[in-house]
Amino acid sequence: MLEANQRRRRHEASHKCDECGQTFTAIFSLRRHAQSHTGVRPFVCSIPGCRQAFFNQSDCRRHEKSTKRHKGLSHTVSVSP
Ligand SMILES: [Zn+2]
Ligand SMILES: [Zn+2]
Repeated sequence: MLEANQRRRRHEASHKCDECGQTFTAIFSLRRHAQSHTGVRPFVCSIPGCRQAFFNQSDCRRHEKSTKRHKGLSHTVSVSP
């Protein structure tokens, strides 16, 4: 058991970001993090007038549901005569 734990520890945070030095336990975590440096945000808010973009879909969805973030926008969407 102890051995397994030690092995785990050694593998912990073995993926290091070259940009900021942050370490990650999994390569996909590092890749996702690396996107924050490249500026690639594939998920864009679908609310008209809002151009917020996100690295992952769950963050985007959560933002879209947030009415607070779109408080001022809802007025600009409907054009009054
Ligand atoms: Zn980084
Ligand atoms: Zn938005």
